Amino acid sequence: MEIIKSVKKLREITAQARDKGLSIGLVPTMGALHDGHISLVDRARSENDIVVVSVFVNPTQFNNPDDLRTYPRTEEADCRRLADARVDYAFIPTVEEIYPEPDTRVFDLGPVAQVMEGAMRPGHFNGVAQIVSRLFDIVRPHRAYFGEKDFQQIAVIRRMVATEGFDIQIIDCPIKREPDGLALSSRNVRLTPAHRAEAPKIHAILAASVADRATKTVAQVTADVIAAIDASPLMETEYYQIVDPVTLQPVTSWADTPHPVGCVTVWCGDVRLIDNIKY
Ligand code: AMP
Repeated sequence: MEIIKSVKKLREITAQARDKGLSIGLVPTMGALHDGHISLVDRARSENDIVVVSVFVNPTQFNNPDDLRTYPRTEEADCRRLADARVDYAFIPTVEEIYPEPDTRVFDLGPVAQVMEGAMRPGHFNGVAQIVSRLFDIVRPHRAYFGEKDFQQIAVIRRMVATEGFDIQIIDCPIKREPDGLALSSRNVRLTPAHRAEAPKIHAILAASVADRATKTVAQVTADVIAAIDASPLMETEYYQIVDPVTLQPVTSWADTPHPVGCVTVWCGDVRLIDNIKY
């Protein structure tokens, strides 16, 4: 595996690969890699000749300076994991390399970006669109891999790809979980032992609510999930919304869409966790 720091060099390498007819898969990450990230890498490895993984904590998508400051950074361990996963190129640029000038682009991300994470984290998805479009422009992959843990993010990226005219296939990959059900996340290392012990309840509560679909309304299930999470003294729900998987708009009846998705954000101590469940 080669570690690349330079935009120019990565551009040259990927252009040459494309000219030779090789397929390129890109996995964008912010590092502190875990098995969830590696599941995306494995999928990319199985479907492409060349696999590029970016490791870049993108400042423009953080609306909370403390979150950016405390975001875990584990570059050496990340490189070992990526080499073990037979990645061809790890792209680990500096902030100056990615943004030699401040990125002032404002993307038209439409209604998918206005609800849930978009409403709670102003500017977050515009920052995501800035970095992902920049990576797409540098690497010009055939396929790019994203995790369903960030369910809304995938919809936003699909919209960005359509409006910017990228010819890139967006591949969504299922959520990887700890054996106790907690969705793997780089932020999990910041949980105290007590909060780490409590956090698996999030998935347990969401999973248990799926059966309630048969007997309760969307509004009842939503209220019950929030009440069950908030019953824990260590957790507080920021939002729980049951939405259409394509438009991300809230559904009011189970009949609104065949595949509703419940999206949750929970404060577990001072760590903000997100998860979702398919109904
Ligand atoms: P991040 O480093 O948090 O920006 O995540 C990089 C990519 O890995 C994103 O597409 C995430 O959705 C994905 N990802 C993060 N956690 C998981 C997980 N537990 N299962 C599957 N994919 C994940």
